Amino acid sequence: MNPTINVPEIFGSDVFNEATMKQRLSPEVYCAWKQCIQTGSSLPLDVANEIAEAMKVWATEKGATHYTHWFQPMTGITAEKHDSFIVPAGDGRVIMEFSGKELVRGESDASSFPSGGLRATFEARGYTAWDPTAFAFVKDNSLYIPTCFFSYTGEALDKKTPLLRSMDEVSREAIRILRLFGDHETKRVTASVGAEQEYFLLPKDLYAQREDLRLTGRTLFGAPAPKGEELEDHYFGTIRTRVSTFMKDLDEQLWRLGILSKTKHNEVAPCQHEMAPIYSSANSACDANQLIMEIMKKCAAKHNLVCLLHEKPFACVSGSGKHNNWSLATDTGKNLFSPGKTPRQNAQFLVFLAAFVKGVDDYQDFLRCSVASAGNDRRLGANEAPPVIISVYLGDELHAVVESIISGSNYTDPEKSVMRIGVDVLPSIPKDTTDRNRTSPLAFTGNKFEFRMLGSSQSIAGPNIALNTIMAEELSQFADILEKADDFDAMLQKLVCDTFTAHQRILFNGNGYSEEWRTEAQRRGLSDLRTTTEAMPRYVSDKNVELVTKHGIFTESEFRARNEIHLEAYSKIINIEAKTTADMAIRQILPAVSRYCADLAKNIAAKKALGCSCKAESDLVAKLSCGTDQLYDDCLQLNEALKSVPCESIDAANYFSHVIVPKMDAVRASADRLELITDKDYWPFPTYSDLLFY
Ligand code: ADP
Ligand code: MG
Repeated sequence: MNPTINVPEIFGSDVFNEATMKQRLSPEVYCAWKQCIQTGSSLPLDVANEIAEAMKVWATEKGATHYTHWFQPMTGITAEKHDSFIVPAGDGRVIMEFSGKELVRGESDASSFPSGGLRATFEARGYTAWDPTAFAFVKDNSLYIPTCFFSYTGEALDKKTPLLRSMDEVSREAIRILRLFGDHETKRVTASVGAEQEYFLLPKDLYAQREDLRLTGRTLFGAPAPKGEELEDHYFGTIRTRVSTFMKDLDEQLWRLGILSKTKHNEVAPCQHEMAPIYSSANSACDANQLIMEIMKKCAAKHNLVCLLHEKPFACVSGSGKHNNWSLATDTGKNLFSPGKTPRQNAQFLVFLAAFVKGVDDYQDFLRCSVASAGNDRRLGANEAPPVIISVYLGDELHAVVESIISGSNYTDPEKSVMRIGVDVLPSIPKDTTDRNRTSPLAFTGNKFEFRMLGSSQSIAGPNIALNTIMAEELSQFADILEKADDFDAMLQKLVCDTFTAHQRILFNGNGYSEEWRTEAQRRGLSDLRTTTEAMPRYVSDKNVELVTKHGIFTESEFRARNEIHLEAYSKIINIEAKTTADMAIRQILPAVSRYCADLAKNIAAKKALGCSCKAESDLVAKLSCGTDQLYDDCLQLNEALKSVPCESIDAANYFSHVIVPKMDAVRASADRLELITDKDYWPFPTYSDLLFY
């Protein structure tokens, strides 16, 4: 690592970005590429050939020997297979070659990726196709080409394809609305995303001593440390040297890859940190977030640290999420969620706001399912994480505006009785007062919505597909109505007012943790889906199937395949956690406690021989013996239950959720009770205070 780096110089230096393309491609080819991006058409072969050649020359100058089609299968992480550029020259030597065909399309044995039944095993081939809207880059001596991944029959096997489809849809429908407001310049509306990433850093040597961390990414055991986060001394606190060296290295690596790493700070929990990049298009933010997670892990290892991306590595301590800041921007530079200065702009803003509010209300379950996972089940609703009930927080000012629209009373001027949309000016809506309700799942923060339910390890593709698609649907409904209106202003007034009135139940400014909210939400008829297995059946409801197929985001079979994969992933995770729990309890905790008991018993015998009292030791031995019996019994029950997991994916998931998870939690509770009365020297692995306060 260079101590003095020139950021503008290194930024994007490992990316074959627009500037590099302009420099290295002939003007005709460069224009042809731009044309393809703007129109969404495919690249002619001669253009692809020239781009491939230029990419190869550039990449080999940067030390690349291989290229890889980089894709995002439905596992939620990325996949790559590397091919070298070598071609035999015929005289025993090789030359380096890379053709347009190799750039544009690849073939990959897809049989080991989850397909949810989309790809029969006899047709195990999967294909990758370059996404020319995402730039290629060099990393670890390979040229990485961001690609879409699909089956022989053209079904999407990845997360990028539906994301791109949803971005096209929301753009198309947003433009219909813009045209009605007299905007004839905008050609493209881009869903923009800034994903704040939370993570934990632990010393590698301590991590290595815990099987649960190594196999599941979270602690399956651990009594709370005497100190937690109650002193609030970690949030935004000074960053310790070891961590700040890591962060500096991370920034440099991300900048080289053209990732706009902007903010870094300590988070609420001890050892917890956050990094946020500057927002970009949803597609590029999604690629970037995958790289961020990968590089965080690798970079931590370099600094003898381990980066945990799990949603809830420690019980009773804040979990890690991903705040997904989302907005819509025009190619003319306007943010469609920015309240404007003129009545006309305000009216347009209110239309987009109303569409969003209606969309969240109509499709709560879809949004909820987009963040459902085994890890997030442990995070949502506890320690600073938003609750599982979806609601929208507008902040006091905007909330008052919406209420005045609903009630027909005037917000600013008591003389006038109604706020006339498109005629009156909105009161100014301050940006900063809106962000502080941490219990809100979806908060309006000035000019964007912050979706805070995402788990820290998940791909941001799913939630953004949901946001884009929902928005596309509502905008399309609005456009259908407004395009037919004889009196546009009157229809606008009615539409916005009716929409807010019909969907005000989704608006909530209060404390999302309170029991009163749970009761109130129930009264309002809002969904309260506490776990993945409660939520997922709603994912493939008729309503959602209709939504995604209508907009061409997924075919019905693509959509159902994702549901299958989701459920399977859930079951596999719980299965690994359960087996690790039993293994650690039987082979590490029980023997350790038993050794301690035996030594105590020896001491008791020795003390008794001397006629000393041994009340404390005797009491401890009794408690420890009782506790180990309980632990042993809990383990037997867990292992027994693991023998009868049903086959069908939904039944299996339900079984894991309702039978295995409680048994696993029982083992943990018994072990944690033993930890509190066992000599620390005997305890077989580092405790919460060792890990969190290293
Ligand atoms: P905080 O949430 O900590 O107050 P900010 O609101 O400044 O911080 O930004 C958080 C994230 O939101 C950053 O990734 C930022 O780039 C992103 N962001 C800012 N404006 C927008 C926008 N219009 N659309 C999408 N993301 C945005
Ligand atoms: Mg934020």
